[in-house]
Amino acid sequence: MFIKKQRLLTPGPTPLLPRALHAMMASDIHHRTQDFIKLYPQVLADLKHVYGTQGDVLITVSSGTGALEAAVSNFFSAGDKVIVLSAGKFGERWVELAKAFSLDATVLTAEYGDTVSPARVEAALKENPSAKGVFFQASETSTGAAHDVESIGKLCQAHGALCIVDAITGLGTMPLDIDGWGLDLVIGGSQKAFMIPPGLAFISVSPKAWAQGASATLPRLYFDLKKEKKMADKGESAWTPNVSLILALSESLKYIKDLGMDNLVANAQMLAHATRTAATTLGLELFAPNSPSSSVTAIKAPAGLDSSEIVKGFRNNFGAIIANGQGTMKGQIFRIAHLGYFDFADMFSLIAELELILHSKGVPVEFGKGVAAVQKIYAEAAFKKA
Ligand SMILES: *Cc1c(COP(=O)(O)O)cnc(C)c1O
Repeated sequence: MFIKKQRLLTPGPTPLLPRALHAMMASDIHHRTQDFIKLYPQVLADLKHVYGTQGDVLITVSSGTGALEAAVSNFFSAGDKVIVLSAGKFGERWVELAKAFSLDATVLTAEYGDTVSPARVEAALKENPSAKGVFFQASETSTGAAHDVESIGKLCQAHGALCIVDAITGLGTMPLDIDGWGLDLVIGGSQKAFMIPPGLAFISVSPKAWAQGASATLPRLYFDLKKEKKMADKGESAWTPNVSLILALSESLKYIKDLGMDNLVANAQMLAHATRTAATTLGLELFAPNSPSSSVTAIKAPAGLDSSEIVKGFRNNFGAIIANGQGTMKGQIFRIAHLGYFDFADMFSLIAELELILHSKGVPVEFGKGVAAVQKIYAEAAFKKA
């Protein structure tokens, strides 16, 4: 009986930037004509600016996993020794990729909600001096935990291994000094902090990675980054690109450049902080309390309540699509996203909705307590005296 506006609030796909969405309508251009060749180099330059690297940044027409695969197939040979950090569903994806491409992987696992410490990475690098790469997630979206990217990057640098970061939800939610920390391959995805629909992935490539790639023999064709780079230097993409998404990306990158990448990160961090505060104020427990990411906050359902009920409550009462847990975490946790086009107004309503949903499930809640916690954080940050 009440109007419910559908709101997409998951950690990918994320809410869409309206002007990027509108730009997609102009996709009646051909990718081998001047119309596109005027557009594409600017998009690549803006992407590089937003990444903040002197290295190359390339685009693949795929979801994020395509660029993860490219990071394996372009820079390694079958049997290469590598170290893989696995602390959640996306860490497990690196493990599967390493296996699919016959890499000799030493896997360092952490419990869901936890992370692999730099000390363990250092020990593994010492035990495996021939290791050619270290693969991990900057932010493990399935658990809401973040790895110590700077320390791991510097360890890779010191030991001569490539540092391969799935930063698909790390970009735009945490500082990433790609060149300063020695991050050789950094992967991003369009449907995360870039505020546009799924279908494009990004990968930065350091000179060190290109050098290792020169003798890498794994098979590749569609995701041949050398070919992609050769075409990018001419202002084109290797294959038929998703023109509508390139148009959207062009707008979202302009938006992010104007806002400033630092401010995009600070925005996510502030919303994550407010969410954690609201959750604990409401007596809820965080799933990754020790190293929480700012891309998404994973919250445990109260004892005796399936988190699917909370997710359903958001959808059925408020049209809000939020994320359940993945795999064995389904039913245990629900996840509130902060990456990209999220603001405090989203936050006030989300927490008010959460209070109402918990109340409807018989969980004792004092209405407004969680919302007040978020308001206080906003007031302190926004109305600070100069
Ligand atoms: C979303 C996401 C991916 C990419 O998944 P696709 O469905 O292939 O886009 C990879 N890693 C992390 C950490 C993610 O959050």
